[in-house]
Amino acid sequence: MQYFETTLDDYIWEDFKSLMSNPLLFNSYSDYFSILVEWIKKYKDDLENSAYWNRVGTVIDVDIKEYISTRPEILLNQESKRMFSLKPDTVDSFVMRLGNTLWDLVKFRSGKDCPRCKDDELNYVVAEVLKTAEKKLILECDTCGRALNIDGTEWSNGVALIHPANETVVNRCIDAN
Ligand SMILES: [Zn+2]
Repeated sequence: MQYFETTLDDYIWEDFKSLMSNPLLFNSYSDYFSILVEWIKKYKDDLENSAYWNRVGTVIDVDIKEYISTRPEILLNQESKRMFSLKPDTVDSFVMRLGNTLWDLVKFRSGKDCPRCKDDELNYVVAEVLKTAEKKLILECDTCGRALNIDGTEWSNGVALIHPANETVVNRCIDAN
C-alpha cells in the first residue's frame, strides 16, 4: 500500500490565520485554548483523518476553566510567530502542532522527572484502554512517550486514548488507592 501524506489545503490555512484578527486570541491562555478549539471543531472533518488526531480529539471537549494549566510553556506574545507564520506542509504536521499546543495549555505536571529523559517532567494523564474501556490515571512523558503507573512501574496495557487530567481527577484517583 502506498502512503501519501495529505497536503494541508491553502484555504484551511488562510482561515486559520484569520483567527489572528480576533482581539481575544492572545488575551489569555484560556481564551487562546477556546478560540483554537472552536476553530478545530469547524474543520474536524478535514483534520480527523490525521494519524495525530487522537491527541486532539481527547482534549477539545474538556472544560478549559477546570483544566487550564498553571504552567504552560508557550508564551502568548510569541504565538503569532510560532503558530501562525509558517504553513505546515501536511495535515499531519498541522494536527500535531495543534495537539501539542492544546496539550501544553492543559498539562497537569506531576513534579516527577521522567526516568529516561531526566530533566523532563512527567504529566498526569488519564489512559482509556480501548479494549476494556477502563480508565486509569497514569504518568506520561511528552518527550519520549513513556507511560508509568502512579507507583513508578511501567504501564503497558495496550492501545489507549490519552485524556488530560486535572487536580480534581488526580486527587480522586489517589484517594481511591
Ligand atoms: Zn521521557
